[in-house]
Amino acid sequence: MTLNYTYRIYPDSSQVLLLDEWLETCRVSYNYALRELKDWIASRKCPIDRCSLESEYIMPADYPFPGYHQQQNNLPKAKEAFPRLVAVPSQVLQTNIRRLHDAWDFFRHRGYGFPRFKKYGQMKSILFPQFRTNPLTGWQLSLPKLGKVQINLHRPIPEGFVIKQIRVVKKAMGWFATISIQSDIEIPKPSPYGHCIGIDVGLSSYLATSDSFIEPGHKFFLATYRRLKVLQKRLSKKKKRSANYEKARIKVEKQHNHIAFTRKDYQYKLAHKVCDMADSIFLEDIDFRLMAKGFLGKHTVDAAFGQFRSILKYVGWQRGKFVGEVDHKGTSQTCPNCRTSVRKELEDRWHSCPECQYECDRDIASAQEICNRGIEKTYRGTPEKQEIDSQIVVLSGVMSLDKWRRGVITNSDIGSASALPF
Ligand SMILES: [Zn+2]
Repeated sequence: MTLNYTYRIYPDSSQVLLLDEWLETCRVSYNYALRELKDWIASRKCPIDRCSLESEYIMPADYPFPGYHQQQNNLPKAKEAFPRLVAVPSQVLQTNIRRLHDAWDFFRHRGYGFPRFKKYGQMKSILFPQFRTNPLTGWQLSLPKLGKVQINLHRPIPEGFVIKQIRVVKKAMGWFATISIQSDIEIPKPSPYGHCIGIDVGLSSYLATSDSFIEPGHKFFLATYRRLKVLQKRLSKKKKRSANYEKARIKVEKQHNHIAFTRKDYQYKLAHKVCDMADSIFLEDIDFRLMAKGFLGKHTVDAAFGQFRSILKYVGWQRGKFVGEVDHKGTSQTCPNCRTSVRKELEDRWHSCPECQYECDRDIASAQEICNRGIEKTYRGTPEKQEIDSQIVVLSGVMSLDKWRRGVITNSDIGSASALPF
């Protein structure tokens, strides 16, 4: 069981200088390792006897592939040639190389996202992967070669957890430490129980549940985005590398951080709200990274659904709620009531089934279908299935959030589906 806690740290001015220097060294060595990788790939693309005017063959044929272990083993040699490497803790350098190879492995498996060179200032974090003793003493964090750094331990490390890794992150507003803590205690995952809901996330409404609760879109961020635009415009007018450019750049970065913090705060509150509504929550298993590549790309990235999913899982875990995923294919194209497929274009906001005349909001309909699938997945093959299925059909669309919270509506109050007004 691993958790990440983020704390603000306050390195003094000499420590800031040192950390900045390490980040820069890491950036340079990252780029060096990437250059080697790129050269090797370019070399293997062309026949061995070709002239270098048209193709390149800069690395000998027996030069081994610069994999992680190869490049990591070269670090001690590199330290002799480049003394600045010695200043950085060696494990930090190793995990830095590891990071490049993680990016490279990702590219090989997915077929996109080739690792890029990092520009000056783009390396923003370093990872300390191992601690023999507890680095946290009172209000200080001791890091190798850096010494004791002040930390704002606004919440204590829970009982029974040990510190595994620490990532030091530089942000415009200051320095942060993300502490990975681990415990041997496995807390059993709750299994589906009680009241089940499905959740559909989208762009027109941020979230819709099968109980007809709709969280409106995130227009909330519009003001902060307008401010970001103004700041970016100001930045573009400044002369590059001037002092004023740097000041404007920091303002832009601060605004980006601000947006990210606000969004996360909003998502935590929303996750708690959802957990108030149900005992078991089902979501779609969409890969939001693929969605972000589509034509709605920028908006999906902004909404950060993937982050919301993991926050919801975490909050659910804390509160003993079940959070599960179901197959996402065609959830918006299926009638939750009779399960026939109903074609809808992206702009059709209303679900209206020609088979059973079931009507409701499009997002709520997909949330109900997700809920159906979740329940089927849970009770597959058991006799309960039939009953549960009909329960969902009866409840869906009628229950309002407040009524459910007060537990006013029961199954028998509502009666059968045919008695409903629609
Ligand atoms: Zn239908």
